[in-house]
Amino acid sequence: MDRMKGKVCVVTGGARGIGRSIVEKFSEENAEMVFALDMNKDTLDELDKQTPQNVRTFVLDVTKREEIKIFVEKVKEEFGRIDVLVNNAGITKDALLQKMQEEDWDVVIDVNLKGVFNMTQFVSNLMLENGKGSIVNISSIVGERGNIGQTNYAATKGGVISMTYTWAKELARKGANIRVNAVAPGFIKTPMTEKIPEKVLENIVSKVTLKRMGESEEVANAVLFLASDEASYVTGHVLDVNGGTVL
Ligand code: NDP
Repeated sequence: MDRMKGKVCVVTGGARGIGRSIVEKFSEENAEMVFALDMNKDTLDELDKQTPQNVRTFVLDVTKREEIKIFVEKVKEEFGRIDVLVNNAGITKDALLQKMQEEDWDVVIDVNLKGVFNMTQFVSNLMLENGKGSIVNISSIVGERGNIGQTNYAATKGGVISMTYTWAKELARKGANIRVNAVAPGFIKTPMTEKIPEKVLENIVSKVTLKRMGESEEVANAVLFLASDEASYVTGHVLDVNGGTVL
């Protein structure tokens, strides 16, 4: 399949979970190059051993603006462009409001919200120079509806949706063809959700119309659609991939 043919793609948090599925999907769809960025060198090294020629791993922390600047300059030098950015890196530090530590609030905001801002600011400069691009932000059902114990996470994922709407408007000015969309997954089987206690998961699944958790690949399929030219008239959209979850 050739749905990403000729495209230079960047996926943050690409070493495992949903990010890794997105990297694999873009690679299978014959992207020119997929950069899998992650701060976890060990999982990136594992990915490196299995990756086809059109995937390259890169250690990068989305909270470090200097690292992002250097990365984008390198890609610009070699390829002259970035066609697709997927802002996928994200973390959780859950606690009820009364028990949430200030540092847990700060770090989640820094990675999930400011990290998306950091990446998009640098990458969109290059997209604007080329007059085109597609950005897909990974939000969450929690950003749309809230969730007990996730004040910090819900704030970031709601923020990602408002940034998506804002950038869809800002980045399409002056003739630029830059589309910005978001995917809001429900509960997906990844290392992130392995931490959730069995009882809580059972309760979650009981509220899913399809009565199961989602797979990373099912999120990657939605991201692929929005990132590709098949979605050429879709921008400022939030696509739910949640099996019909009623929280
Ligand atoms: P995982 O925890 O499995 O993977 C996230 C990856 O991002 C890890 O490799 C992690 O590295 C990396 N990462 C963390 N912080 C940074 C950083 N500062 N810079 C670069 N990379 C970083 O998560 P999922 O695959 O489950 O989630 C991916 C995205 O999807 C997240 O944004 C999450 O919020 C969102 N999402 C997930 C859902 C789910 O049910 N799984 C539901 C809804 C949304 P390390 O191993 O070092 O932490």
